[in-house]
Amino acid sequence: MKTLAIGFAALATLTSLASAEPAKRLFGARAAPATSMAAAPVGSYANGCLAGGVMLPTTGPGWQAMRLERNRNWGHPELVAFVARLGAAAQSIGWDGVLVGDLSQPRGGPMLSGHASHQIGLDVDIWMRPGYARELTRAERSKLGSFSVVRADRRSVNDAWTPRHAALLQAAAEDDAVARIFVNAAIKDQLCRDVGGDRLWLRKIRPWWGHDEHFHVRLTCPKGAPACTDQAPPPAGDGCDETLAWWFSDEALNPKPAPDAPKPKPRRELTLADLPSACAAVLNAK
Ligand SMILES: [Zn+2]
Repeated sequence: MKTLAIGFAALATLTSLASAEPAKRLFGARAAPATSMAAAPVGSYANGCLAGGVMLPTTGPGWQAMRLERNRNWGHPELVAFVARLGAAAQSIGWDGVLVGDLSQPRGGPMLSGHASHQIGLDVDIWMRPGYARELTRAERSKLGSFSVVRADRRSVNDAWTPRHAALLQAAAEDDAVARIFVNAAIKDQLCRDVGGDRLWLRKIRPWWGHDEHFHVRLTCPKGAPACTDQAPPPAGDGCDETLAWWFSDEALNPKPAPDAPKPKPRRELTLADLPSACAAVLNAK
């Protein structure tokens, strides 16, 4: 009886040690998906994990996954299907396909570097640099970079921006599985100026910091995924309004920190205990 009690105590200590460790270390250390579980996003985009993740094939008709050494080409099957549809759309607008940045880690969760979101297998970054007809080598995929389509002053797009970029963003936004797409505000502004006719799809195109070398596509929770938490839909309308104008204000472009303002506290690292409780099972499943 006594040994059993000690056993439990040791186990409790181990468990609390594990739950104090940043979740990004735990999930970042898992090289393979939780294949014993059915595919399911668990939690929300910036606080969750992925059961039954599937790999985006590194090369497909219309896409090539980049930065393979990061092992972040994993997602919910719906996300992999979306990338395939986007690759086909890219080819139909005259690109040789798309170059695909990060999806999620094999079991999702927080990452050791980079994104706050991309945690539940429903987010993907697509490069602004068009794809290639030939298959890139692994080395090329880690060396080759994307390029920015926004000027250095962040007020407008640059000469690298093309109507094909706009057409690709439209194809992505008109896909029913897509909830929102994050782009630099200068890109949204250009679309607001150029798009005529049906402008409904602009609602899903959301201005955000960065996102000048890639755009970030976020899918809605798939059907029959009760553990997946959707984000509130974007505000009604095309978003070509004063909320967009703010991004070009001095406050946004040239923020001046107040001399005696308190320093913002660094955000506390997510631990396993901060994630939905089902993520412990995802982390430890075969
Ligand atoms: Zn992203």
